[in-house]
Amino acid sequence: MAYAKLSGALLVRKDAPVAETVSVPRVGPTPAVRHGDGLLARHLKSLKLPTFLAQYERLAQQYAAEGLDPSGYLLRLAELELLERERQLIDRRIKQAKFPAVKSLDTFDFAAVPSLDKNLVLELARCEYVARQENVIAIGNFGTGKTHIAIGLGLAACQKGLSVGFITATSLMHELIEARDEQHLLRLQRRLAGYKVLIIDDLAYVPLSTAGAELLFDVVSQRYERGSTIITSDLPLEEWINVFGTAQLTGALLDRLTHHVHMLDMQGASYRLRESKRPQPRSQSNGKRDE
Ligand code: ADP
Ligand code: MG
Repeated sequence: MAYAKLSGALLVRKDAPVAETVSVPRVGPTPAVRHGDGLLARHLKSLKLPTFLAQYERLAQQYAAEGLDPSGYLLRLAELELLERERQLIDRRIKQAKFPAVKSLDTFDFAAVPSLDKNLVLELARCEYVARQENVIAIGNFGTGKTHIAIGLGLAACQKGLSVGFITATSLMHELIEARDEQHLLRLQRRLAGYKVLIIDDLAYVPLSTAGAELLFDVVSQRYERGSTIITSDLPLEEWINVFGTAQLTGALLDRLTHHVHMLDMQGASYRLRESKRPQPRSQSNGKRDE
């Protein structure tokens, strides 16, 4: 009798039906899903496929009950696994970004800031500038929504799975000086350089110490052509020298920042102030809509 070698030392008759040699799924309705005494669950855990594990029984029953094409079953499970991973990654990115509040571009009233190029913002929200390591600088007076826009762009980057960090210029300065004093500057610098998008919010008219200015310069320098930096400030670029102290340092910093930059011009009155001055809608409707 002729024998064929399968895997290892297992010998089977050449004329044996296939079903005797390998396990072939039975065709026809399967009342319950067989999963080998928890072996499948263990394998799915080892493979780190929690959504497969959570969903396979339900889906198998659905596919069997509805007589759906079984080849779609595995595809659907794989899709669910990927979607869940994507959702978890986005959640993680948002948490890691440490936004002071979660604000999206959807809630931004562009009509309130006519100086701001809405199309440019929407284009930036697609995050292609991040792959090109371009920067964004939003300049405008207080309350015009600079922080809101910066967070909105940061959130859009998180939703693409990109790593984002948000920090105010003042906190960044304190963290850098503290890290230097406590001998872990390198670690902090590495983290800051690693973000795909780093938002430095509210660079304001507070002159920095020489050491502080140099540390901030190092951050920008280390991120140059590695990631995108978004800076918001109420100071026009010409006045940054008052923050950084020397023309040389300011020039070198602006040179790196503005080599590839998108400028967002955000002038106007404070949005919050304007909103608070608007007549509040009456509780009793007079039939007219509030403008
Ligand atoms: P800035 O950083 O320019 O000082 P913020 O972004 O902190 O201003 O805005 C102040 C508040 O007003 C925030 O709650 C922000 O969400 C809101 N805000 C500002 N501008 C707008 C706008 N155009 N549309 C919607 N909300 C806005
Ligand atoms: Mg702000």
